[in-house]
Amino acid sequence: MTHAHAQTNTPLTHDSKVTDIKLYINGQFVDAATKETFANINPFTEKTINNVASGDAPDIDAAVTAAKTAFHGEWGRLKLTERLAYVHKIADLIDAHIEEIAPLESLDTGLPLAQTKKMVARAAQNFRFYAEMVATRLTGDAYPVDDQFLNYTMYKPVGVAGLITPWNAPFMLETWKIAPALATGNTVVLKPAEWSPLTANKLAEIIHQANLPKGVFNVVHGYGETAGAALVAHPDAPLISFTGETTTGSEIMKNGAPALKRFSMELGGKSPFIVFADADLNRALDACTWGIFSFNGERCTANSRLFLHDSIYDTFVAELKKRVQNIRVGDPLDPETEVGPLIHREHFENVSRYLDIAKEEGAEVVSGTLSQVENGHFVAPTLLLNAHGDMRIAKEEIFGPVMTVFRFSTEEEVIEMANDTRYGLAGYVWTQDVKRAHRVAHAVDAGMLWVNAQNVRDLRIPFGGAKQSGIGREGGHYAFEFYTEVKAIHVALTDHPIPAFGKKR
Ligand code: NAD
Repeated sequence: MTHAHAQTNTPLTHDSKVTDIKLYINGQFVDAATKETFANINPFTEKTINNVASGDAPDIDAAVTAAKTAFHGEWGRLKLTERLAYVHKIADLIDAHIEEIAPLESLDTGLPLAQTKKMVARAAQNFRFYAEMVATRLTGDAYPVDDQFLNYTMYKPVGVAGLITPWNAPFMLETWKIAPALATGNTVVLKPAEWSPLTANKLAEIIHQANLPKGVFNVVHGYGETAGAALVAHPDAPLISFTGETTTGSEIMKNGAPALKRFSMELGGKSPFIVFADADLNRALDACTWGIFSFNGERCTANSRLFLHDSIYDTFVAELKKRVQNIRVGDPLDPETEVGPLIHREHFENVSRYLDIAKEEGAEVVSGTLSQVENGHFVAPTLLLNAHGDMRIAKEEIFGPVMTVFRFSTEEEVIEMANDTRYGLAGYVWTQDVKRAHRVAHAVDAGMLWVNAQNVRDLRIPFGGAKQSGIGREGGHYAFEFYTEVKAIHVALTDHPIPAFGKKR
């Protein structure tokens, strides 16, 4: 067994030695078949953290074969209680390692430590939650039909689940998929994002420690175009659950179509945050600041478009300007940091380009200060003011600590503006008027709406997007639809009439 962080008893620092990462296939940590590796870069120091085995088609094939064998073998034969005991064990081990996993996640992604600690705790809850959900809610229905038939349904696992995940909250998003996949009885091949491999490797170590039968859980690190594409194309992985960019999702669906794969798609967003004049403005200010600048703005449900009623625009923006100046930007391993560096130089350049585009499009760009930091992929918390709907900064997902701000005057107008996007992931409505709150929440095209609330979600509630923000839902029992096959059993209770073709009369 490898250890991601060689000195597990000392606090992780940017200078800590972190062991190189291998693939985890069939219960073993192995090199890529090609022996290729890639460098994993620290977004704060811009130095190499460690090297990562770069998987490709042969490794995916080995992982899928192992997962298929486990599915038809030991894993498939376990009693439900035995299977769910493993899922609980994973939750317990994650809880026991929060203090180790959260700093690794911050080191790898630039996400501030205070936030990664919460995400890791949530990841453990995901496993516990799905163990309980499967025990209590994965039941079938019974349909007695006129005393002649008893029909019933049951939910069966599908097989090998191919899980392809992004870098923006890697550990938590991976567990959103792995927990329901395993609890419902599938086996897993995970292809984590190449920019954030550390905690996926840690999860492999934890699952190894939990002693799951070999082949049940596999991790193949590597690039999307190689390892990811091979998983999408593999004929023995019927399920593909993907979280990432909308354009990648579309490409994946195209590549998986020949094998008629079942897809779950959690994609991009450009979510509106609407503040009416009668809202609790202090709370709205807290919520929209947190909603765009937490997770470094690299958050699918970020309120990247803020709509302010004319009558409050000036005062609200004045307060926002103070907030962006005061946000603590810095070292992600510092527990006081609120915004850290962006994940990767390439992403930093993409986000920075949008600040130039904003200026070219005539928006006013108001940024906080970066005087606290010397290097790293930092973008200061930024407001893009005086925006209107046909600008690129109004339409495209920037995915950084950047909020585009609009004015509106009527409810009808703001609904139209909010819906003027190809995305439909989340929305936020702030008003004290209960009738208006529900009206607007119903009218905004999004999979999830929060009313006078920041982005919090009970694990029972479905998560996912409308329009080009996704297909299907994760969370709660809604995930069962993807991870199980419903089977209908028809049982005759009587000698009901059967047409007797060809019988001599
Ligand atoms: P991305 O699409 O670039 O990559 C996601 C994953 O797909 C990575 O593991 C990557 O290696 C893999 N990949 C890339 N090309 C592939 C291909 N051709 N075949 C198979 N796999 C391939 O996304 P990202 O930049 O890592 O993540 C940010 C995006 O994710 C944002 O758009 C964000 O909104 C979205 N996101 C959505 C949700 C949600 O739940 N809706 C949650 C988090 C992030």
